Amino acid sequence: MCMDIVLAFLLSIHCAPTTVITPSNATFFLNGVVYVRPDMMKPGVLVHELYHACQYEKAGNQSAKSWGEWQQREYDAKIAEILFNEKHDGDEIEVWYGVVSD
Ligand SMILES: [Zn+2]
Repeated sequence: MCMDIVLAFLLSIHCAPTTVITPSNATFFLNGVVYVRPDMMKPGVLVHELYHACQYEKAGNQSAKSWGEWQQREYDAKIAEILFNEKHDGDEIEVWYGVVSD
C-alpha cells in the first residue's frame, strides 16, 4: 500500500491534512506534527494520527483545550482508524516520513 491510499481515505471523510510525519521513539500528534515510531508505521495508525492533524487545523491550529475535547478527538480519530481497518486490516505500508500536503 502507498500513502496515496491513506490520503484518499482521509479525503473521503473530509480530511486533507497538511503536516509533517517525523520519526520518533513514540507515536503521537502534537502541535501540527505527526510523530511515528518506525515499527508503528501502519496505514491505520497513519489514518489515526493524520486525522488528528485535520482536527488541529479545523480548530484553528489549536490543541484540545479540555479533557472532554481531547477525548472527543481521540474517539473520532479511533473511528476513522476502525473504518479504514475494516477494509485494509493487515495491509502494510513502507516506512514513510516527510511533508504531507493537500
Ligand atoms: Zn489519537
